[in-house]
Amino acid sequence: MDGNSSQSATPPDSGRWGSADRISPGVSVPTDLAPDPPRSPRPFAAVRSHLESELEAASELLCCLDFDGTLAPIVDRPDQARITPENDRALRTLSSTESVTTAIVSGRSLADVAPRVDGPSIYAGNHGLELRTNGTETVHPIARTRSELVDEACGLLETVVDPIPNCRVENKRLTGTIHLRGVPESCRAIVAARVRKVVERFGDGALEVSQGKEIIEFSPAIPWGKGNAVELIEEAYTEDAFVIYLGDDRTDESGFRAAESGFRAAESGIRATESGIVRTRNRALPNEGPTKGVGIYVGDEPDEGHPSHASVRVSSPEEVATVLEWIASCVG
Ligand SMILES: [Mg+2]
Repeated sequence: MDGNSSQSATPPDSGRWGSADRISPGVSVPTDLAPDPPRSPRPFAAVRSHLESELEAASELLCCLDFDGTLAPIVDRPDQARITPENDRALRTLSSTESVTTAIVSGRSLADVAPRVDGPSIYAGNHGLELRTNGTETVHPIARTRSELVDEACGLLETVVDPIPNCRVENKRLTGTIHLRGVPESCRAIVAARVRKVVERFGDGALEVSQGKEIIEFSPAIPWGKGNAVELIEEAYTEDAFVIYLGDDRTDESGFRAAESGFRAAESGIRATESGIVRTRNRALPNEGPTKGVGIYVGDEPDEGHPSHASVRVSSPEEVATVLEWIASCVG
């Protein structure tokens, strides 16, 4: 490998993010890649030799990682989540490799997640709505205009869920999270109903509710997620990278799809125009040529009812460290 160093990363230009002046709130844009059917991910050991030849053939690697449940075990109190020492060591090694760019792509805010992980040159927080590269931060322009709504909704929700045992509201500025860990099963439907009511009242269509592991979240109702952040990073900071995305939750599915779509194409990219953000990807290309990336799901085998778009699976954050060490040995 002889690609660009991750240390050369600079902020994306306004054309890639779009700009608040040029994009109207509520603009409808395509977000998802052509939907490949979900499948049952194969154990890492079963694909290792194939992946090894892909990595050897690649000139550059972009490795994107979720934080909670991927680099750090899930814990009862999210503020106490810590990257495992093995993942910390492996990620630092990978991040210092010349041909490798590493990026954290988390649902946590940038201010929260960045101090928890050393090594990567790129951090995407709030599910990709904010991006930090070499200390410079940029925010999705539409999300920025709706942060006041998020703030107001968080304020009311704190009062509304106050009587619910162990229920906590986290204001992440661009999105809000209601933590359910420790909330009695009998109260969860009540919390969900109250969150929807408040978000509908304050959002008036500009905010939307989603659910993750032990959390309910609300965010700007715009088609932008972790997968879009992966595409933006790949487009802005790499030349022709093989993309690996590791994650453990539903919100990581768009990251898996972005990694596995083989999206590097001559005409690919995300561009802002007078009418909004447009995708210029050549959708015919993902089915042609060699694989250009892989999604790695972290956890037990997904339920049949919720298959994953990742084609590879590892069981835990402990096994993530093994994979990261292996990747570093392949590309070093
Ligand atoms: Mg996670």
